[in-house]
Amino acid sequence: MNSPAQKLVILGAAESGVGAALLGKQKGWDVFVSDGGEIKAKFREILVAHNITFEQGTHTMNRILAAHCVVKSPGISDKIDVVKAVRAAGIEVCSEIEFGFRYKGNSKIIAITGSNGKSTTTMLTYTVLKDAGYDVALVGNIGYSFAAQIAEKPCEWYVMEVSSFQLDDIHTFRPDVAVLLNITPDHLDRYNYKFENYVAAKFRIAENQLPTDYFIVNQDDKAIQEYLANHSLHTTTIFFTMSDITTGTDGGFIEDGRINVDYGGEHFDMSIHDMAIKGKHNQYNSMAAGISARIAGIRREKLRETFTRFKGLDHRLEFVATIRGVDFINDSKATNINSVWFALESMEKPTILIMGGQDKGNDYTEIMELVKQKVKAIICLGINNQPIHDSFEGVVESIIDTSSAAEAVYAAYACAESGDVVLLAPACASFDRFNNFEDRGEQFKVAVRNL
Ligand code: ADP
Repeated sequence: MNSPAQKLVILGAAESGVGAALLGKQKGWDVFVSDGGEIKAKFREILVAHNITFEQGTHTMNRILAAHCVVKSPGISDKIDVVKAVRAAGIEVCSEIEFGFRYKGNSKIIAITGSNGKSTTTMLTYTVLKDAGYDVALVGNIGYSFAAQIAEKPCEWYVMEVSSFQLDDIHTFRPDVAVLLNITPDHLDRYNYKFENYVAAKFRIAENQLPTDYFIVNQDDKAIQEYLANHSLHTTTIFFTMSDITTGTDGGFIEDGRINVDYGGEHFDMSIHDMAIKGKHNQYNSMAAGISARIAGIRREKLRETFTRFKGLDHRLEFVATIRGVDFINDSKATNINSVWFALESMEKPTILIMGGQDKGNDYTEIMELVKQKVKAIICLGINNQPIHDSFEGVVESIIDTSSAAEAVYAAYACAESGDVVLLAPACASFDRFNNFEDRGEQFKVAVRNL
């Protein structure tokens, strides 16, 4: 697609935009980076060091509209004027994973998407391959640009976390193995509040796949079932499930406390109690990772070793401390209702739930049953906690408003007795009070340690 004089414009200069700029420059494109906000110093330095032209705080439209191809960062909505103008001018718009894909050569991609569990499954799959000695890189939404990796250190395998936003502008992107973990409402503001648009965006991960590729999907997920009943795919689909067990065919299932993975006529199983990550949701993630790893040629003993050792990521049901008999768990990454459902589902003690933040239009009825069964008190952490009060008043004895992580931790501890658990699982984005979910989780952990 490129010839030396072709103009590449990158909109947004963060991890993925700067990665695309590096790869574009290396491949001979005339690159121009445009960011409407302020570019972070670390990214500015990379652009300067590579002699890449950029602007910040503005978009110079005549330069942007001279592009042959525009790489748009996943964080930039289609609704902003500059993107509308680019599309109206008929300029090709690519996401960074599409741009990288065109230069990946014979390398193979395992791409993982879903509403919840992407990072955990991506990291687990990557760790299995890495532990087995593969030449593999961890890329995508998890924080490392795919394009930058190709420019700087190409590998034989890429394990890639993919968000729906990154799939919005693919054209030829075709993973060898694609994983779809689940689809529950999230980010609907970007999809005109239509769940079906979001579902279709997720399924784009498989749209270019061939019968020689693999598409690994959660058979128990309603939205996935419905989509598959109405659409035909051209790939080899492999299911994982907890409910409808089909031994012998390729796939994953849980039975009698054991995780099972069948692939290529070989059977793998191990006790879920021997796996380092716990909870039903992690059994789903592990089945998906296990099938992907077996397709990639990982031997069963190697899979067992990593499954026994892999402890999961920070801020995902992360155990923090036990203080005077009260456990503290940080699930700051639980930013939607479905992830809170799985967090509550895995609680085995009376729970004080710290929740709230930037609400994305949550339907709290989905967790009502679990809240009734398990939650003693709710500590609200958002700026506007009205939706939580409206949903749970009369259901939970005390609902307390707080205005910082430290205050929330004190209030929760004051409600707790020995044998209880305090769970931070906000069901909301963090941006009303914190920089991001990591900041929220860190502040929670500091407050717990200061008790
Ligand atoms: P993502 O990258 O998709 O946001 P993470 O692995 O970071 O996924 O987990 C996000 C949140 O979802 C955490 O609260 C985690 O405990 C929960 N979670 C992880 N896997 C699943 C799953 N398969 N289904 C539902 N919730 C999950």
